[in-house]
Amino acid sequence: MTHGLRIAREALSIDSVSRSEVLRYLGYQGQPLSPELDRRIDDTVARCIAIAQPRMSLASYALREIGEQGVALESCTLRLTGHDIVEHLADACEVVLFATTLGVGIDRELRRLSLTDTLEQVIFDAAATALVERAADAAEAQARAYAAAAGAFTSWRFSPGYGDLPLDVQGDFLAALDATRQLGITLTPSSLMVPTKSVTALVGIHPTVQPGLVSSCSICSLSDFCTIRQTGRTCRG
Ligand code: SF4
Repeated sequence: MTHGLRIAREALSIDSVSRSEVLRYLGYQGQPLSPELDRRIDDTVARCIAIAQPRMSLASYALREIGEQGVALESCTLRLTGHDIVEHLADACEVVLFATTLGVGIDRELRRLSLTDTLEQVIFDAAATALVERAADAAEAQARAYAAAAGAFTSWRFSPGYGDLPLDVQGDFLAALDATRQLGITLTPSSLMVPTKSVTALVGIHPTVQPGLVSSCSICSLSDFCTIRQTGRTCRG
């Protein structure tokens, strides 16, 4: 039995990102990197981390109704539509929603670089994408700890725009997290988030271990933020 997570905002302290993730976002496929480019990537990642102000907001909601057309939540207007999310949450009793953002300073820097140094802009953009995903890892780790404390399990994280869950749920998703007030996230008319380096996602809270969880803590992307292992358990029980 969970106790419910009320909307909580938190500043995140993240001092590193995975270099291989940054290279992946740069489209790197094993070609040799010059020492100069190598150093430039490291310097840009460090500058991105210095400018970013990663924050997150998360909250849990009980499921009110789950049917062919979608999932309705208690006490909020968010309705998650599509077959994929219905399948994802099939035996869930609750969801944890979360949003993370790096703040407006990152967008300001990307705009400046677009006018002054396009190579640096591309590297900075990849670094920021890796960093906001790491912020989402930190939020997901909290959701897993919340589930584990109740003897429950989370599913893998699912974002608006995945599968057939439409992007136009973003407005109600952000409202359910009070994310405009808590984090300063707003939407463009086409439902894209501003600041651009922002992520919204949810995990289901389930009574049984869910497929898709990593089999070992040693390869888990959440491990730096995990508080479950301190209890002598893992998120798999
Ligand atoms: S580090 Fe281990 S216990 Fe923690 S979230 Fe990852 S797999 Fe689960």
